[in-house]
Amino acid sequence: MALSIETEVQYLKGVGPKLGDLLRRRGVSTVGDLLEWFPRGYEDRRAARSISTLEPNELVSIQAQVINVRSMQMGRSHRKMYEVLVGDSTGRISCKYFRVPYKGYFERFQVQSHVRVSGKVTVYRGMLQFSHPDIHLIGAEEDDQDELLPLYTETEGLRPGKLRKIMAQAINELIDHPQDPNASFKKDLSQKEDARWERNPYKALPIGVPESLPQWMLEKYELTSRSKALKEIHQPPMELGAKYLEFRSPAQKRIIFEEFFWLELHLAAIKAGVQKEKAHKMTGRLELVDQVRASLPFALTGAQSRALAEVLEDMKRAHPMHRLVQGDVGCGKTMVALLASVFANSNGFQSAIMVPTEILAEQHFKNATKLLEPFGIKVALLTGQLKAKEKQIVHDEIAAGNVHLIVGTHALIQKEVSFDRLGLVIIDEQHRFGVDQRNQLKSKGVSPHFLVMTATPIPRTLAMTVYGDLDVSIIDEMPPGRSPIVTRKVFDSKRDKVYGFMREQIGKGRQAYIVYPLVEESEAMDLKDAVSEFDKLKFKFPDLRFALLHGKMKPVEKEEIMRDFRAEKYHCLISTTVIEVGVDVPNANIMIIEHAERFGLSQLHQLRGRVGRGEHKSYCVLMLSYALSEEGRFRAEIMEQTTDGFKIAEADLELRGPGEFLGRRQSGLTGFKMANLVRDVGLLQDARKAAFEILKVDPQLKSQEHQWVNKKLLETQKQYLG
Ligand code: ADP
Ligand code: MG
Repeated sequence: MALSIETEVQYLKGVGPKLGDLLRRRGVSTVGDLLEWFPRGYEDRRAARSISTLEPNELVSIQAQVINVRSMQMGRSHRKMYEVLVGDSTGRISCKYFRVPYKGYFERFQVQSHVRVSGKVTVYRGMLQFSHPDIHLIGAEEDDQDELLPLYTETEGLRPGKLRKIMAQAINELIDHPQDPNASFKKDLSQKEDARWERNPYKALPIGVPESLPQWMLEKYELTSRSKALKEIHQPPMELGAKYLEFRSPAQKRIIFEEFFWLELHLAAIKAGVQKEKAHKMTGRLELVDQVRASLPFALTGAQSRALAEVLEDMKRAHPMHRLVQGDVGCGKTMVALLASVFANSNGFQSAIMVPTEILAEQHFKNATKLLEPFGIKVALLTGQLKAKEKQIVHDEIAAGNVHLIVGTHALIQKEVSFDRLGLVIIDEQHRFGVDQRNQLKSKGVSPHFLVMTATPIPRTLAMTVYGDLDVSIIDEMPPGRSPIVTRKVFDSKRDKVYGFMREQIGKGRQAYIVYPLVEESEAMDLKDAVSEFDKLKFKFPDLRFALLHGKMKPVEKEEIMRDFRAEKYHCLISTTVIEVGVDVPNANIMIIEHAERFGLSQLHQLRGRVGRGEHKSYCVLMLSYALSEEGRFRAEIMEQTTDGFKIAEADLELRGPGEFLGRRQSGLTGFKMANLVRDVGLLQDARKAAFEILKVDPQLKSQEHQWVNKKLLETQKQYLG
């Protein structure tokens, strides 16, 4: 029987039921899946280098002998690190692992074993090392004439040699000598394959590996055919060794392009869908916006004006706005949002702003009320803490259209909330909400304009993918008169100096934050906890007034403390990370972050953004313990070097890789088999361009040459919905 990409992998010669089972558990059910089990790297055996010649950031292979294998505790955490020290006649180099690749990985190596190490050379404390390289025992099974060898993620029960063999079998039957798999079905439809025949949307199974992209796209972007790419990925041509190590061979480029293309096509289709919706067209009438703007105690920055103009322009269009305003903490996004709501109001529509915390909701509510009520715009606050009766009143007012701007938390998306004429939906700190929550609020109106805001900058290159279905305005300018925040990392032994400095600033009339990573004492983590520190500091500085704020407090209590802190009733606010988002007290100019090594870069950046919001010179102190991990130190150093959110985001991305970096923000963006959002940005840009092009020439993807594209788009959409 001729093979097809849909044939179950166990029917491939050399596999059988047992191995078939093992492969299925790894997500490889069909022969097509097997071909898409890509090597995680390559080993260029001719290029084996001696240790003394290695340079930082090279991707290389070396041959060496194992000198020592050990594991050690990392800092005070419970995580373990592993080290394999190897050497050749020219030197030694350490291979570091922060996790065990698979059970038994390190047990394979004995002192003096001959190994081949392939990976990227990095630098730690001035020493070269490999982090997470591939290490192979030399000898045993591998056929030594292969000089450019694909390396697959190692799997228990499947030797690399065996995997390469069955891969070669699949390539031989499907790519080198493809036959029509339908011939046998056609002969005998009574067989059990019959069912599959019926299920196949195209009735016939494709011969060999079908091309999924249209010919014009292959030509325009100089892409190899899919079948040739799949063959060469597994059987790389020798002469392209260096290209393979860098993931820049034609075969890899083709596969990476395609992976990006499906995602970008999905995003482009969403965008095209939005553009088909009819919006509440909001016409002219900028008088009120201008009046409110003129009543502000400050002029908008150039960047704010630009963003506002883009937003208002969108709102005048026939299709709903779908825009992201991205700008660093403190750049003044709120004002842009409020002025947009004024515009909606003067066109007779309600606006809703959803924020992630009660504190922030209160704050926006106050600012908005003060600014807008003089112009007859009614502002309401809707949070979970309202009593049932109060809530009912607010609900009624919203439904009756008596209030025009509604500021709230998740309480806004409850079933009971219905709007009279919701024309503008604003999501603040959008990364704190899921796609569902954002859409729920949107669905409270009929195709409302949609504005999302974020203070978590992400590298521009990623923005187009993470926010691929949105238009983006960037506010890259701070209000005038803010001096940059001075950031210093300080070890525990200098704590008294830090307190001394804090006192001095408080003496000048300023206020301080001290932030702790945890609420309650946790012996295991040995962290100073906010509550006990609060007691200690009160005792130590009886003349200063301290307040305590943490997540376990009732919302009313939190609100009261924030209000009093803003009113300067306290000198110093001791807090857990509830303070992180959006809080705005311009008189506070010192942020002391305890156990700064426990925080990620974006969180440190957010926390630091709580100061430097007024005209006073501001300071951020990163308190560190001595048992500091390599990464913790690196993060602190980045924070000292820059206050630019984009630069910090880039460092964060570098540090954690796109998977971790995007994490909560957008799952699904990181499920690429080969593509890498950092390494392959150029291809990402091409794929995005191609996605928009294809929808332009064939919006419904109806033409024959786009049938695979259409099928794949439907699959992608299902995947993102489910
Ligand atoms: P974010 O972008 O982080 O949400 P906010 O909107 O909270 O920033 O603004 C931070 C502070 O800057 C607020 O106190 C706000 O009133 C003030 N602000 C906003 N725009 C300007 C401006 N153009 N000039 C001076 N201060 C401004
Ligand atoms: Mg904000």
